[in-house]
Amino acid sequence: MSENCLFCKIANGSIPSKKVYEDDEIFVFHDITPVAPLHLLLIPKKHIKSLNELEVADGAILGNIFLKISSLAREFGMSEKGYRVVNNTGEFGGQSVHHIHFHLLGGRHLTWPPG
Ligand code: AMP
Ligand code: ZN
Repeated sequence: MSENCLFCKIANGSIPSKKVYEDDEIFVFHDITPVAPLHLLLIPKKHIKSLNELEVADGAILGNIFLKISSLAREFGMSEKGYRVVNNTGEFGGQSVHHIHFHLLGGRHLTWPPG
């Protein structure tokens, strides 16, 4: 838990969110400003600032997150048509919340390349 981190507060329940899933390591909720019919955010409960700060020991958490992406995509009916997983890192990557997170976007045809 890092003080004044929005996503730490969402993960510990002190700021409300539309929660989808939670276990010991990860927390999943709906993005407050969805850009697609399905827009989920998957975060580790551990405060990791970005991919730049990722450590070897965090590998299991990332594995957990990606397995959950796969199962939630199935659960929300996204598997057949497809979906997109996005991580924004740093200023040029467009990261606005400095607690690592993965966007799961689906339910419409997404353009490529992104802006
Ligand atoms: P990024 O721009 O990759 O750092 O993504 C941050 C995401 O967090 C954006 O898509 C925001 O819409 C989303 N967001 C910001 N505040 C909240 C909140 N209180 N609850 C849910 N999602 C949020
Ligand atoms: Zn945090």
